Amino acid sequence: MSITAWRSKILHFNGDPAHSDEPGTIMVYDDGILVIEDGHILAVDTPEALADMTRGLNVQHLPDSLIVPGFVDAHVHYPQVDIIGGYGEHLLHWLDRYAFPAEIGLMNFKDRAKDTASFFLDELLRNGTTSALVFATTYAHTVDALFGKALKRNMRLISGKVMMDTHAPPELMDTAQSSYEDSKSLIGKWRGKGRLGYAVTPRFALTSSPEQLELAGRLLKENPDVLLHTHLCENQQEIARAGALFPEARDYLDVYKRAGLLTDRSVFAHCVHLSDDERNDLAKANAAIAFCPTSNLFLGSGLFDMSAAQQAGMTIGFGSDVGAGTSLSSFATMNEGYKVAQMRAQSLSPYDAFYMATLGGARALHIDKHVGNFTVGKEADFLVLDLAATPLMTRRLGKASTFEEMLFALMILGDDRAVRRTYVAGKLAHDRDA
Ligand SMILES: [Zn+2]
Repeated sequence: MSITAWRSKILHFNGDPAHSDEPGTIMVYDDGILVIEDGHILAVDTPEALADMTRGLNVQHLPDSLIVPGFVDAHVHYPQVDIIGGYGEHLLHWLDRYAFPAEIGLMNFKDRAKDTASFFLDELLRNGTTSALVFATTYAHTVDALFGKALKRNMRLISGKVMMDTHAPPELMDTAQSSYEDSKSLIGKWRGKGRLGYAVTPRFALTSSPEQLELAGRLLKENPDVLLHTHLCENQQEIARAGALFPEARDYLDVYKRAGLLTDRSVFAHCVHLSDDERNDLAKANAAIAFCPTSNLFLGSGLFDMSAAQQAGMTIGFGSDVGAGTSLSSFATMNEGYKVAQMRAQSLSPYDAFYMATLGGARALHIDKHVGNFTVGKEADFLVLDLAATPLMTRRLGKASTFEEMLFALMILGDDRAVRRTYVAGKLAHDRDA
């Protein structure tokens, strides 16, 4: 039995601050202690309240720091770390010019996939991201590569083989039947191993035949514990093409719904251009949305309607959507998310943003019974953030007169330099100063 404790400012959430002003929804300790036992949360409270428990313990005191739960990236593509920052395209041409060639580049190269997966996961940890829902490619070995490396790092990570049997480069295409068989065997091989989970992953309606979408629905029915992970209503051209390819569907979401892919375990990336019908159907199904602001701005896709999604009561997490997104840092995502809200005359408070980057993301990915906040018994994925990471942060954060003001300045000025340490299940997984 090993007990460790950290003393610092602490922030975590017990609920969604956009929907609840109950006391305890937002938990802020200006001076708090987090106690970990064997990789799980044993206690979080003030030093006074924990005086008995921490007597005799070597409590690590971290002034100028803020401890938060590990960030959750609810939508990201690991093979695309190599083409991040690809100039000059909107979604459909960007896929042809950058994303598909990067994925084809892993076709026959197991070592290259493993190397890319290792680099990607280390970058996640360096940026404070301890859990993610990740696109691999259509090649099963790229899923093996990512899961193998994530297992080694003991990360709570979810991924799946991309299903894509039409309107794509021939090298990347599977068939409806092979995508079903491969997904099924990957589920058997990886689901529940360590802290890993599986997501059935048709890329989007444009690159799957109706047969393939049907089989994706069958995989969900046969495996009620896996997620569905895909893209929805990212770009106008994409929506028009989905309408042309599936004329019988009421709208884009209905393409998925007809195939049994609209469930309470479905995560839809983007959802920038939803109709009211689509938003209502998503809310009714308790499906989750991954809001990907850096990607939506970079590809010129549009401005996500956060207020409408919140009002509909939807579960929303943040996605970096790298490589169309421009950073793996949740700080960059929150920062750009705020600006998207501003452009819509809405607002994204720092509490809403940090909630979405932690517990909100965990809820979207159905891993919130394990991670996302500091409820006693949960797995101890957490970060030590440096509130004096740069001269400008030291100066600006030092001038903040409230915790909320400090948190907002951190969200706007922060980046990987602010992530001093990342802990995965209580173990140090990244140390900036090492
Ligand atoms: Zn994406």
